[in-house]
Amino acid sequence: MKITGLVCYQVDLPLKEGSYSWSNQSFSAFDSTVVVIETDSGLEGYGETCPLGPSYLPAYAQGARTGIKQLAPGLLGENPLAIAKINNRMDELLKGHPYVKSAIDMACWDIMGKAYSQPAYMLLGGLLQEKVKLFKVVTRQGADIMAKKISEYQDQGFTQFQMKVGAGADDDIERIRKVSANLRPGNVLAADANTGWKQHEAIRVVKAVKDVDLYIEQPCTSYEECLAVRSHTDHPIILDECMDSLGMLVRGYQDRAMDLVNLKINRIGGLTRARQFRDLAMEFGITMTIEDSWGGEIATAAIAHLAHSTPREFHFQSSAFHEYHSLAIAGGGPAIENGAMFMSNKPGLGVEPDFDVLGSPLFSIKS
Ligand code: MG
Repeated sequence: MKITGLVCYQVDLPLKEGSYSWSNQSFSAFDSTVVVIETDSGLEGYGETCPLGPSYLPAYAQGARTGIKQLAPGLLGENPLAIAKINNRMDELLKGHPYVKSAIDMACWDIMGKAYSQPAYMLLGGLLQEKVKLFKVVTRQGADIMAKKISEYQDQGFTQFQMKVGAGADDDIERIRKVSANLRPGNVLAADANTGWKQHEAIRVVKAVKDVDLYIEQPCTSYEECLAVRSHTDHPIILDECMDSLGMLVRGYQDRAMDLVNLKINRIGGLTRARQFRDLAMEFGITMTIEDSWGGEIATAAIAHLAHSTPREFHFQSSAFHEYHSLAIAGGGPAIENGAMFMSNKPGLGVEPDFDVLGSPLFSIKS
């Protein structure tokens, strides 16, 4: 099988609740990129990459598209089933930029599943859990609004929550106090600063909420700052933004820097590398949040397939991003029920883009 074309689309994903805010950032929509890989077999694969705005990670939406355009001519003629070769080729053609490569790698997994008539989760290890546990984000707002939101989400069936903080230590202490007061017994809460605290602020917050049962996620920008914060708290620590390579996972494991890791598919470069990261984390005994930086039905399907193929005890939670949007970009995305999502057993990622919604391609590169 040979790749004969790469077609690229841009789409804005508007947020149902009007905005999504974390740390000191806020957006009303996220700019997503969809890539379609065409082959001489007639099979097509779909991939998506959606950085969470231009200053969350070293990634931005226009960069994703420019990168895909840069890579595409060098991928024509390659076999999408030879996934390691595809990844090696992308690394030869462009150094770094994992978020660019993620969409292409994802589309190749979609093609592999279709070629072998298997859902992607079977190729990623098998159906190790029937349902994928979700968490719901309580976006950063005033403490009272956030406290009200967590009650509403619990009424909807969600049991795991990530409240966004990282915008001023005193306000965040109030947010954590008020939101945790409304958490029902048995439910799980993490306070995610998304790198937003300076080290001294993080230490103030963790000390002030010492009595609250919650996880603290990526308090500061650097790994070293997060490690320093950990030495001041008994709260379980989740590392997210700084876990951008297998090397960082090994380092974190050796330093006992975290209790959980947040694995984001496009930060690591796609499903191929996310699977490596997942398998190594399991070898180390580390449980994971499995997600992506953001996306619509296509990126969320990839998350669901990776999570389905991960044993329950190593899977903490996942995100269903399409649930936050007022616009669907594809059919066949993960179904959501009672705080969990699950995929159909359709081959590949099991999603079909809505080309009316995606509109005209930005570019297509064909052999
Ligand atoms: Mg996080």
